[in-house]
Amino acid sequence: MSEHAEQRLGRPSHTESEPATAHEPTDALGLDTEQMRRLGYWVVDRVVEHFKHGAEGRVVDASSPGELRAALGGPVPDAPGDPLEAMQTLVEVALTNMQHGDHPRCFARVPGPSSYAGVLGEWLGTGFNAIASSWDGGSGPATAELVAMDWLRELLGLPTGTEGVLLSGGSLSNLTALAAAREAVGPGVAYLSDQTHASIGRALGALGFPGADVRVVPTDERLRLTAEAVLEAVGHDRRRGLVPRFIIATAGTTNTGAVDDLDGLADLAVAEHLWLHVDGAYGAPAALCPAGRAALGGLQRADSLVLDPHKWLYQPYDIGCLFVRRPGVLTRAFSIRPEYLADVRSSAVEVHFGDRSLELTRRSRGLKLWLMFRVYGAARLQAAISRCLALAEYAEQLLEADADWEVITPAQLGIVTFTRRGWSAEDQRARVAALAAGGYATLTSTRLQGLPALRLCTINPRTTESDIAGTLERLAGG
Ligand SMILES: *Cc1c(COP(=O)(O)O)cnc(C)c1O
Repeated sequence: MSEHAEQRLGRPSHTESEPATAHEPTDALGLDTEQMRRLGYWVVDRVVEHFKHGAEGRVVDASSPGELRAALGGPVPDAPGDPLEAMQTLVEVALTNMQHGDHPRCFARVPGPSSYAGVLGEWLGTGFNAIASSWDGGSGPATAELVAMDWLRELLGLPTGTEGVLLSGGSLSNLTALAAAREAVGPGVAYLSDQTHASIGRALGALGFPGADVRVVPTDERLRLTAEAVLEAVGHDRRRGLVPRFIIATAGTTNTGAVDDLDGLADLAVAEHLWLHVDGAYGAPAALCPAGRAALGGLQRADSLVLDPHKWLYQPYDIGCLFVRRPGVLTRAFSIRPEYLADVRSSAVEVHFGDRSLELTRRSRGLKLWLMFRVYGAARLQAAISRCLALAEYAEQLLEADADWEVITPAQLGIVTFTRRGWSAEDQRARVAALAAGGYATLTSTRLQGLPALRLCTINPRTTESDIAGTLERLAGG
């Protein structure tokens, strides 16, 4: 093998001073220690470069399916390949052709502004193949998960005793919450709104809720679910002999950032003996800072609450978090050991996370969350979230200052929606597509109560005021 080829394989050209073990197979399939180090360092360098220079690149990229297949496809590899060349292909093709949710000018849907400590926690857990299923099989990772969720619970102001589990995201956390809630209180009608995230309807369907038990209640003029509207629907259903059971409120709708009347809905839930589930997948982390906490009043009264640290809590994909106020509800719904054994072996401290959801073998998502809290501290997180709230307010000010823009919904939890006078829905879509095609910025073109709307979601603290101004200028002028 040539020296060049040796280097590409990650092997050193000089080996005299190294221990003889450097080239013994070290992983399950034969990479040696020296290769592992070099390849690993290469990965670290690429990722740090991505953090440092990603903002100079395009926000989104997409080659044709044919081009992607040509670069990534081919016959099943038979012989070992050059690892560096393969990793280079992953970086240049697979990891380039995507929306960079961590780019400061990614304003579309819900961005994913990940933090490096989160990445490091993920890498460590993956490298050690950490498992967080049973207490005996992983008490360390389980404790990291318990502690990280406890810190998060405290920062959100949720009551002590609240239990939780980390899952893949909002969709699975909502599904898990609703399955556990139904197990706890029995089947019946679920009340949601026309602004509820689509994953909830899908979860209810997958859980076998009959259509008659899914009530979509209209929102008010600020696109919020109100206690009055739910009360009316509940009364109507009771008169028809149906059994109202669940209120599904949203703390930060994905469309506009609107927060349902959480306090009113919590009062109603108490009065009518209903389970209050709050979907705060993107919005709930705002409760870490004072302005967000004020906007999310009542959040702490939820029977179950979902939030996505991979959205507004600076974690790499994937991690969703489910909190359930009443201890034991998750275990009773999901334990797959006989009750008498669960009583003997499971306790509030020695938690079998395999008993808290449908996941049995599960990686430790708690490590990256724990590490993020330890590395940056809560004050840094709170400041980052405050900044994001202010960025949406800045965007709203710019829009208000130009008579051609029209704000539809004001800055709410980092989201502002707007339109431009004279633009059709088609114009709007075309402008957004052109901006993305140029690679400068992505935003969302959506519909609000049937009317076309543009939407910016500003949850990346690295976004600058000029990123926002530049995006609006190009959108208008492009
Ligand atoms: C993003 C989102 C979801 C879905 O979460 P995933 O992590 O994408 O599964 C659910 N509800 C709301 C309000 C969301 O913003």
